[in-house]
Amino acid sequence: LEPLYQFMVRVRAAGGIVTAPQWLLLDELADQYGNGTLKLTTRQSFQFHGILKKDLKASFKLINDALLTTIAACGDVNRNVMCNPNPYQSAVHEEAYAHAVRLSEYFKPRSKAYYEIWLDQEKVISSPEQEQEPLYGRRYLPRKFKIGIATPPNNDIDIFASDLGFIVIEEDGKLKGFNVCAGGGMGATFGDSSTYPRLADVIGFIAPEEIIAVSETVMAIQRDFGDRLNRKNARIKYTIDRRGMDWFVAELQNRLGRELLPAAPYHFDTNGDRYGWLQGINGKWFYTLFVENGRVRNNGKRALKDALREIARIHRGDLRLTGNQNLIIGNVEAADKNAIEDILKAYHIADSAAYTGLRLSSLACVALNTCGLAFAEAERYLPSLIDKLDILMKENGLEKEEINIRMTGCPNGCARSRLGEIGLVGRTVGKYNLYLGASHNGDRLNTLYKEMLAEADILQELGGILQRFSGDRLAGEHFGDFVHRKKIV
Ligand code: SF4
Repeated sequence: LEPLYQFMVRVRAAGGIVTAPQWLLLDELADQYGNGTLKLTTRQSFQFHGILKKDLKASFKLINDALLTTIAACGDVNRNVMCNPNPYQSAVHEEAYAHAVRLSEYFKPRSKAYYEIWLDQEKVISSPEQEQEPLYGRRYLPRKFKIGIATPPNNDIDIFASDLGFIVIEEDGKLKGFNVCAGGGMGATFGDSSTYPRLADVIGFIAPEEIIAVSETVMAIQRDFGDRLNRKNARIKYTIDRRGMDWFVAELQNRLGRELLPAAPYHFDTNGDRYGWLQGINGKWFYTLFVENGRVRNNGKRALKDALREIARIHRGDLRLTGNQNLIIGNVEAADKNAIEDILKAYHIADSAAYTGLRLSSLACVALNTCGLAFAEAERYLPSLIDKLDILMKENGLEKEEINIRMTGCPNGCARSRLGEIGLVGRTVGKYNLYLGASHNGDRLNTLYKEMLAEADILQELGGILQRFSGDRLAGEHFGDFVHRKKIV
């Protein structure tokens, strides 16, 4: 008798945008084959947990019927391409999104095996030698590869956590090109100093039409020079650090046959989301809804999953996943705004004004009991820790202060805990390392403050620092900058 294996299935959607009919099919998938919930991930994907082995094929079919896919959502290939989901700030958002879709499609594995195995398509290739994978070859990449496109001033996709990132440079309302950055990655292993989180470095500027060629060349360098013996050192950040950034840029320019131009000036304000209604530059409306830790479920009277299903049934626009695990109900006609608000109210989905800035700026990975790598709780625990931290925030007059707090159940960093102004990384059940001092816009990692703290210690440590922050901060100073200025880390 075989054990009752269950799996996590991840759906790839470049830039995290799906249509309302696609949302309805994913909602149905969660009920029919999953655990009745959808997880919106920090990389703008959907995850479904608890899919039984016997239901995998039917799940894949449902996803592909919705014109979505699971191919390359995992594995040593290019993963979901991230892109700012907010089109209200920039005239070039649609262009940036179109580039994200192009990258996503271009770097999809060419192998037909996925379709033959999971979707019962006719077998047209009879041996591995006949498979044509011009970039990935027979061995694919040494490790997963993550690409993102960010449009300043919003860094809501945490561009510097990407293996390869493109920062939109806009001139006179037009896409002038991209600053290229390379070498980011959040993962590390406790007790192994050869592993560490690293932010990507900005290495130059390219024209929009070069984005595919530059991406392909960077991935080819990683394919050829990445560590294939030790998976813990296989990401491109280690390839770059082993050989040096000068070598990497020279190799890239040599293969491209030209030099990168100097990087253009840019500025990021924040890596958080802006909640509520905002009008896009196309005149339509976008509602950013807080989804705590990205978990879409019904919870007593607060029936988020039912509410979103109801909205998807009447919605004529799209639904957009943010890199902060939230959801944007996008491209809403002005005439439809009231109907959407009425549904949210009917299902007791509170407006963002009901939450503190700390909770609205929180991220957590799934961790226990779903992730096999977790040492500690994250998604199931962070909300109750924030209940207690909120009391401290309110006592210090900080209830609207947006301090990024991020928790992961291990140092792999799926919720980018090392980019939290407050970062908590699980060591063992009930104990966390506390990191402080990442920047508010995602361009500086945090620093280890104390190790192995239980809840009472976390509250005591943060209580004292929040009190100092409330009394001693400079005008407009962010928490992460304050702890550096005061040399707390
Ligand atoms: Fe990722 Fe670690 Fe969290 Fe698992 S416990 S989801 S590997 S960060």
